[in-house]
Amino acid sequence: MRRKLAAGNWKMHGTGADLAEIATLARTHADPACEVLICPPATLIERAAREVRGSALMIGAQDCHSAPQGAHTGDISAAMIRDAGAGHVILGHSERRQDHAETSAVVHAKATAALHAGLITIICLGETLADRERGATLDVIGQQLAGSTPDAARGENTVIAYEPVWAIGSGHVAHPDQIAEVHGFLRERLAHRFGTGVAAMIRLLYGGSVKPANAAGIFAIPDVDGALVGGASLRAESFSPVISALE
Ligand code: PEP
Repeated sequence: MRRKLAAGNWKMHGTGADLAEIATLARTHADPACEVLICPPATLIERAAREVRGSALMIGAQDCHSAPQGAHTGDISAAMIRDAGAGHVILGHSERRQDHAETSAVVHAKATAALHAGLITIICLGETLADRERGATLDVIGQQLAGSTPDAARGENTVIAYEPVWAIGSGHVAHPDQIAEVHGFLRERLAHRFGTGVAAMIRLLYGGSVKPANAAGIFAIPDVDGALVGGASLRAESFSPVISALE
């Protein structure tokens, strides 16, 4: 049985004052029927992890380097993230694929390092509007999945997030048929590579303009095991109803 997951991606938002949002969520969802994860910027991981101690909330990071340590100014390793108190890391978000020219090979290397450090990876995939308009959505998704996911991926260490690039931060949520098609395709590709038993345990999140008003509809789509939420995760008042819709 796959446990549902509501994951918040704060991106480059948040300073110490915003930890109050996490404290509110921890109080409001003291015993949630799904997993709840917040991925704040790296500067807040340690304080956020302290904030959720003793609660059901979990803290994750938004990226890691593929090397265990070394001369990589400004980067952080998977072991450092773990040491700061996070248990998850988002990898291959489309903003990193775009802003930092991250290829699936880079994401694969980072995911391998993260698994080695004992982190749960959330590997992001998604087509651009141009990909969709030329009918290449499943080709792009299939290549990103194959290229980004290590052989060691299992239900307990890997989550896949389908995030159409055109739906992120745009207010344009994908149509339920589009989400169902891609999630069904992902499950089928995972079964082909890892076997049906493993594929049945890997959680598939949808991401892209998920909000309180549309969350329940998205969560009713087959093979949607939760959401990766950007904007609506920044405030407890908007993330809490999304979590409740998943419970
Ligand atoms: C995201 O950044 O992963 C995301 C889905 O953002 P938003 O919910 O704001 O579209």
